[in-house]
Amino acid sequence: MDKKELINCGKVKSVYNSTNDDEVIIEFRDDMTAGDGERKEVMNNKGAYNAIISSKIFKVLEENGIETQFIDLPEPNVMIAKKLEMIPIEVIVRNIATGSLIRKYPIADGKRLNPPIVQMDYKDDEYHDPMLNDSIIKALGIATQEEIDILTEKALKINEVLTAFLKDAGIILVDFKVEFGKDKDGNILLGDEISPDGCRLWDSQTLDMLDKELFRKGKDSEVMDAYIEVYNRIIPDDEKVI
Ligand code: 5GP
Repeated sequence: MDKKELINCGKVKSVYNSTNDDEVIIEFRDDMTAGDGERKEVMNNKGAYNAIISSKIFKVLEENGIETQFIDLPEPNVMIAKKLEMIPIEVIVRNIATGSLIRKYPIADGKRLNPPIVQMDYKDDEYHDPMLNDSIIKALGIATQEEIDILTEKALKINEVLTAFLKDAGIILVDFKVEFGKDKDGNILLGDEISPDGCRLWDSQTLDMLDKELFRKGKDSEVMDAYIEVYNRIIPDDEKVI
């Protein structure tokens, strides 16, 4: 694997060009951030745990007919992926009301949402990821109505597959954020990552948090144990590389 130039340095991942023009190399760093990057800490091996968890989830989604950018995981924290032109929309699916939803709307914390809520936020730290609607998305010129419908359909399918997969591991998928991009033929694929950084995951028995919400709440010392718990539950022993 031959890293070329850095093409994007995000808050927790660095994306490099590959010698293959259709591919990129994504390095998952050990950084953890909250509050649009205002708070930042380094967590030992966090990048590797997230890359492995994300790769596993992307493979499960592929097996269920959802195309992703995943190609390979040559090192525990390095993913080879199809090059995508990312759409700056965070597609959020909510099965249980919590987080920003209950801060903004009169909905009880913990209420089951059936059907799930699909929400789209504009991915822009400067504007603090404001919530979008179809008209705003079109006014910003970031997606057409047809593309919005594809994003919604794909996010709901991901929710279905992931909810069932995590249920088998004793985990409730409360809500999550996904990002999509277009490949060189214009196909919309799932990109970025699905990891405890961008999901709310609760233990099915105890309802304990197993995700980045612990960090957001200042419980820094508990975060890595939670990520390792998710890793241990969803990665079979013969696939464990750390
Ligand atoms: P909320 O809007 O309630 O804060 O977040 C809803 C879900 O989307 C949570 O699972 C949260 O982790 C995820 N999410 C929303 N915005 C972001 C973001 O900017 N970065 C990450 N990593 N996850 C996000």
